[in-house]
Amino acid sequence: MVPSKYESPHAGVDSAGTDVYRVLDLDLDGVCADYTEAMRQWLVRAGRMAADTFPDMTRYEMTLATGWPFSTVDEYKQAHKEAEADHLYATMPVINGVPEALQRLADAHVYIRVVTHRLFVSGQHQIVVSDTAKWLDDNHIPYMSLCFTGLKDTMHASIHIDDSPANILALRQAGEHVVVFDQPYNRDLDGPRMSAWDETSVSKLMAWMNRWPE
Ligand SMILES: [Mg+2]
Repeated sequence: MVPSKYESPHAGVDSAGTDVYRVLDLDLDGVCADYTEAMRQWLVRAGRMAADTFPDMTRYEMTLATGWPFSTVDEYKQAHKEAEADHLYATMPVINGVPEALQRLADAHVYIRVVTHRLFVSGQHQIVVSDTAKWLDDNHIPYMSLCFTGLKDTMHASIHIDDSPANILALRQAGEHVVVFDQPYNRDLDGPRMSAWDETSVSKLMAWMNRWPE
């Protein structure tokens, strides 16, 4: 349910400046959806990986991490594309607490804009876009905008949440406020950081929306 005062794209700060329009740019994979586990399960089902294999998570790029059954970017993209066609994006596990936490933020008039780089492999964008929207609906995730772009540092928001070291650094370079969503492959980056979608994280996010910790 969209708060009526935010139905207009021109909604902003009220005349007294007390009701600040807060925009949250929200990444999906590795933040709301467990892409790593979804790919692992798909590869196991496809007979390309043993069920008891849990690849190394200390590198963001799967071709650099040990345990995955591909060694080149092309091999990875091919497997990813097959998983996409098999509706990976419609069926992947949701990270614990995401729907509840985002509903609390939406109730507090945070404008949630999903920003994802899922169109990085061409040829089946219809599947990707429609499965992403289905997954968001199926998991009761509230959002106002859905942006498919890899150029995240061209977007301005009150706060961005991302897990990708490259995105976090690019956004920070552009002067944006980024909360790191904790994953083994981003532990060397400075915070602010959140490790789970729980009550504490929602409270912290609201506080950071009002005053960014410098
Ligand atoms: Mg991500």
